[in-house]
Amino acid sequence: MADAARERLLILGGGLIGLTMAHELARKGFTIEVISRQKTEAAGFGAAGMLAPHAEGLTGNHLELGLLSLQLIPEWVKKIEKDSGLSCGYRNCGIIVPFLNIKEAEIYPTSYLGLILNRKELEAEIPGISQQWKSGLLFNKDGQIDNRRKLMLALEKACVALGVKFREGVEVIKLIEQKQEIQGVEVKNTKGLQETIWGQRAILCSGAWSQKILTDLPLFPVKGEMLSIQGPKNSLKRIIYGPGTYLVPREDDLIIVGATSNKEARFNKGITQSGQLQLKNGINSLLPIANQWPPIDSWWGFRPGTPDEMPILGKSRLKGLWLATGHYRNGVLLAAITAKLISKCILKDPLTQKESELLMSFNWNRFNKYHASTRQ
Ligand SMILES: Cc1cc2nc3c(=O)[nH]c(=O)nc-3n(C[C@H](O)[C@H](O)[C@H](O)COP(=O)(O)OP(=O)(O)OC[C@H]3O[C@@H](n4cnc5c(N)ncnc54)[C@H](O)[C@@H]3O)c2cc1C
Repeated sequence: MADAARERLLILGGGLIGLTMAHELARKGFTIEVISRQKTEAAGFGAAGMLAPHAEGLTGNHLELGLLSLQLIPEWVKKIEKDSGLSCGYRNCGIIVPFLNIKEAEIYPTSYLGLILNRKELEAEIPGISQQWKSGLLFNKDGQIDNRRKLMLALEKACVALGVKFREGVEVIKLIEQKQEIQGVEVKNTKGLQETIWGQRAILCSGAWSQKILTDLPLFPVKGEMLSIQGPKNSLKRIIYGPGTYLVPREDDLIIVGATSNKEARFNKGITQSGQLQLKNGINSLLPIANQWPPIDSWWGFRPGTPDEMPILGKSRLKGLWLATGHYRNGVLLAAITAKLISKCILKDPLTQKESELLMSFNWNRFNKYHASTRQ
């Protein structure tokens, strides 16, 4: 830690993962500069904030990574709240996945980690749930963070309190490399002028846009539309995670409804009639009464997608450049473990056997084969 003090590190992208890395490493004594094109475009603001390794039915190393992160989240949140003085809106509320019959529940990839509910138990958990659902799985360790209204703000404030420097409105346009080492970045500054920022250590955290900076990465945007409604007091105590639609109740009964998933939309901004209709139909299929609750807001975001839907973590092909991107639909869940693993790598802290295995399996070079085939 002493060696890290005052060492300079560039964070390329000031979204959820960029802020998470900036916070973690500023705490360890690094001098951090975050280069952020536009903080409000971050998927970190667009997400539903579910912490759902079980409900998402993750498997293998992805599940392990998610479970490790879930364990770290209470401590991670405490650190952010301490440094910022703000709440992150973390709630260990549990998630229910409804099914048409018990057989479906039994064969769900993570069913062995949940509690199977019959129709009566399901109704007791979610009064008013649509009649079609005859069974459910309760994952009581899954939860949520109020990313849109709280976490992103708290992270930014925590970073500022630790002396992190922000270059907001500045776009990285090119990496400067020499002999396979990063030397800095070319940026377009707030006046539209090109400028060089030197630095031999950087983390690429540019979410869905990461491929524009490092073209080797097979990253692409997966647009998601959302809406919110105001539920009556105590209308829903757990998250309902249905096929294609989920309902996430915040502390004040604001219910976040998500999400569409559209690769073809690329970076097309804005909500669409069809997307919003899909969400309303989704509400009907889960909790019909909720369609009578007042609408509050609608928005969209771009998930950083990868071919295997798993993140890209660890070393890049350039010495000094680390990758923390491609978190797709689980960036909020995986932020805590990402911070831990990447900061350990940068600090050269010893990794456990499991951590080394995970870093190996999420390294970018697992896509070499994919790249070869798409370039033919
Ligand atoms: C609709 C939706 C629902 C989701 N729900 C959940 C959920 O319930 N649970 C969960 O765990 N995850 C969820 N996610 C996923 C999660 O939001 C993402 O995985 C996460 O935000 C990724 O973080 P990031 O920092 O990599 O990208 P972002 O948060 O998108 O941040 C990237 C930042 O990089 C900046 N940037 C890009 N290019 C440049 C450049 N050239 N120069 C400078 N800056 C640049 C951008 O301006 C942006 O601010 C959801 C995502 C969406 C869209």
